Amino acid sequence: MSHRLLIDGRLVAGAQSLDVIDPTRAAVFAQAPRADAAQAERAIAAAKRALAHWTALSYDGRRPYLERMADAMAANRDRIAETLTRERGGPIADCRVEVERATAAIRHFAAQKLEDRVLRQTDQELIVEQRYPQGVVVAIMPWNRPITLLAFKFGPALITGNTLIIKPAPSTPLSTLLLGELAAEIFPAGVVQTLVDANDLGPLLTSHPDVAHVSFTGSTPTGKKVLGAAASTLKRFTLELGGNDAAIVLDDADPEWAADRIFASAMINAGQVCYAAKRVYAPRRLFDAVAGALAQHAAAAVLGDGMDPKTTMGPLQNRMQYDKVLELIASARDEGGNVLTGGEPTGHGFFIRPAIVTGLPDRARLVREEQFGPVLPVQLYDDLDDAIARANDSDYGLGGTIWTGDVRRGIAIARRMETGTIWVNQHMSLPFDVPFGGAKQSGIGLQNGIEGMEDMTQLRVLNARLAA
Ligand code: NAD
Repeated sequence: MSHRLLIDGRLVAGAQSLDVIDPTRAAVFAQAPRADAAQAERAIAAAKRALAHWTALSYDGRRPYLERMADAMAANRDRIAETLTRERGGPIADCRVEVERATAAIRHFAAQKLEDRVLRQTDQELIVEQRYPQGVVVAIMPWNRPITLLAFKFGPALITGNTLIIKPAPSTPLSTLLLGELAAEIFPAGVVQTLVDANDLGPLLTSHPDVAHVSFTGSTPTGKKVLGAAASTLKRFTLELGGNDAAIVLDDADPEWAADRIFASAMINAGQVCYAAKRVYAPRRLFDAVAGALAQHAAAAVLGDGMDPKTTMGPLQNRMQYDKVLELIASARDEGGNVLTGGEPTGHGFFIRPAIVTGLPDRARLVREEQFGPVLPVQLYDDLDDAIARANDSDYGLGGTIWTGDVRRGIAIARRMETGTIWVNQHMSLPFDVPFGGAKQSGIGLQNGIEGMEDMTQLRVLNARLAA
């Protein structure tokens, strides 16, 4: 069945169409409808019209819609997961987890009510913080985790009374369009809409006077464009951007235990995760053991079609990212890096064998830039203060990890890290009730937690004098 956009309560064809490429085969496997500017304008107008009714429903009236959406996603888990495996690549088990997590996130946010907060209540006066919806929210998505990352916007935006326009990345539109088809059966017209573009509708959506909030997840350079465009109308915005998370192994850690966990969190989704470990700092005494164990894990990875249960790692999602990662590996060799294993293209699709690289200077591109792929530099340190300073010496500040045999020591060191999240002896834990956001150029604003929900609302202070 052909895929359709959701605009003003109706599933419609796109003004144009777009090839969707299967990264496992590097071949076109589907067509997506592509919206033009007129369809984007219609979606914005419909979202604006839908606001009055949706807001008036209040929390209790809106909650069942989100719960029905979560039910529909659960009932369609395999269909959405298989679409993810085709369009983004990667093991089907991981894609199922992505859908399950997204479903759980929507259920979680459906159950969260933002209550008024009384700041002062005396015989004389009443001062209350109230929250009301901002209006039309535009969610602009990346291609690496199209459904989970969307759920972090979908739930908070809608339960707090905003209406939502979703724009997936052009290379992974189909899973989002499936959600749109489910939403068409559930939500009133205009409350949820899907628009697919070819990287061309961003400026219209982010500068439109009828859009109140842009919730953007993607790269830092595009995030800066969004910030610029939002300035013209002083839009509210959330920017969840790139990262270059450091994993610091302390000298008291078991090197194999740490390498095992670092590998898992660096190479999940072939390294295409914003808060994946992207550089490792290991002390001299443990260096060979850590790098060697990481290389063993890399050599054991099974690359292939995500529908094959033996596959542990999928391809890069698109040719641009594939070319970028190969270029970073080539530059690492030029800059004196020692590629312990992997780094070469393989198969017919955008596959690169996972690589572990040692011997690079800190100024090497692979250490400084966000690779967003299956190649991990391991850097040597002699002095822990120096390792912390080198880890912090980055334009990014999304997350980071500390691996230690003494968790109390790890917790003390965590206070010195300049990141939005710092994990100790674990990585990738992202509970829905805990705020997540980046420091420095990794972002502005928060998602998840009550803070993420509040970011989707406008604060109004009620200030009443009760007695004359
Ligand atoms: P990208 O910035 O290239 O694209 C993201 C989205 O922006 C796409 O939907 C794209 O069509 C749209 N876009 C392009 N030009 C635009 C413009 N001028 N205005 C508005 N929107 C525009 O990012 P990507 O390559 O799809 O995703 C990978 C990046 O996302 C990585 O840097 C990764 O770290 C980051 N990311 C961050 C998080 C987080 O939570 N911090 C999560 C996942 C991914």
